[in-house]
Amino acid sequence: MRPRVTCFGGVGEIGGNKLLLEDKDTRVFLDFGSGFSDGAMYFNDVIKPRQVNGAGDLFEFGLLPEIPGVYSEKALQNTSLRHSKPDVDAVVLSHFHWDHMGRIPYVDPEIPVYCGETTTFLHQAYSESTGSPLDGHELRKFRTGDRLRVGALEIVPVHVDHSIPGAYGFVVHTTEGALVYTGDFRFHGPAGSMTADFAREAGRSRPAMLLTEGTRVSPDDSRRNMSEKSVLDEALALVKGQRKLILSTFKGNDVDRINTIAEACRQTGRTLVVSMKAAIVLKKLEADTGMKVPRVGKDAMVYVRRKRSGTVDDKDYWVWERQFLDCGVTAREVRERQSETFLHLDVWNFPELIDIKPERGGSYIHAATEAFNEEGEQEEEVIRNWTDYLGFSYHQLHASGHAPASGVERLVEMIGPKKVVPVHTERPDLFGSFKGHSRWKLSIPEKGKPIPVAAA
Ligand SMILES: [Zn+2]
Ligand SMILES: [Zn+2]
Repeated sequence: MRPRVTCFGGVGEIGGNKLLLEDKDTRVFLDFGSGFSDGAMYFNDVIKPRQVNGAGDLFEFGLLPEIPGVYSEKALQNTSLRHSKPDVDAVVLSHFHWDHMGRIPYVDPEIPVYCGETTTFLHQAYSESTGSPLDGHELRKFRTGDRLRVGALEIVPVHVDHSIPGAYGFVVHTTEGALVYTGDFRFHGPAGSMTADFAREAGRSRPAMLLTEGTRVSPDDSRRNMSEKSVLDEALALVKGQRKLILSTFKGNDVDRINTIAEACRQTGRTLVVSMKAAIVLKKLEADTGMKVPRVGKDAMVYVRRKRSGTVDDKDYWVWERQFLDCGVTAREVRERQSETFLHLDVWNFPELIDIKPERGGSYIHAATEAFNEEGEQEEEVIRNWTDYLGFSYHQLHASGHAPASGVERLVEMIGPKKVVPVHTERPDLFGSFKGHSRWKLSIPEKGKPIPVAAA
């Protein structure tokens, strides 16, 4: 078979990338994620796919491709698709975000997953605590500079800057020219130069095809154009002017954000207290020599929720949680040191505030992505109800994990492909208005329809 790509997700939607690359008898999936709005027409928090049907309820609505040689026996046990020997050589994972790996639990565990070395540490943190989508798969790790041989393909991973460490784009040398896949990227983070490294390497391959994300290629990009540096500056100003408790929601695996918050705390003498889920991520990443993270127990303390007996007894906690009790901070301790504490509070832990009973006049910083759908708007409303109730001010501070349209345009220019296939975007058509469009062909993907890598 001549090299071709079939997109089974990330088509006219943000996330859910499942890109099947075939060349001769080699088949690999570039990412295997679940989309943010994947199945939202049919499923929600109440109506869920049935476990007993494995992948079946997702096949029903085309949320997973119904093709042989991909899925585990368990995923297919009650479906009309018969289990057969794996017919896919690998899943090549760009980064540890669910919209790129969330459907891997359905994949046959005999199929190895190639991922960045940092991803293996993130995987360990999740695997030991809440579970990881990569559980059960052989992980073959790579770093920038490696060249991976998978059948007819040579895959060159190159780091990119994104809102989680260990994110990669790929240059794939096929039998008919190079294909470039960006994964998710930005230029405005602390490691923006890594995205430029990727673009240069990709450009050198003179690619026939570029599969690029376009999250923010949209007529109404509501995200503020903040860099991580400006998040730090605004956070510092806010913390310096505050004498009461500061609460903040941010993703426990967005290490750039944790470093930013830790730096704001260091400069102002506040104690950063993070959730146990964030603590285990930091703990695992301490072993990654290429990473700089706050040290748990030194630069960051750990919030201890009451569980089961309600007395903070060792036995109340999972084994992975117990290691944090020594550097634990309880609701009472937060209440006693409100002016010295910066508390990381996940949304689902808001009821902790009933125990903390903060004084009025504190600040709440939503240091995560702005609401971009109805669900997010509902969540924001509930958060605002809480902050109003407590008499806290509300602040939105966030640098997006994705380049704005101008950044995507710049990347396409730097790489200079013959053909551009926009994925991970609701508006692939808008790539047609990019300046350099006359120099490349725009190929808008359709779900399940193969696109040849080489120019037609
Ligand atoms: Zn994504
Ligand atoms: Zn991502």
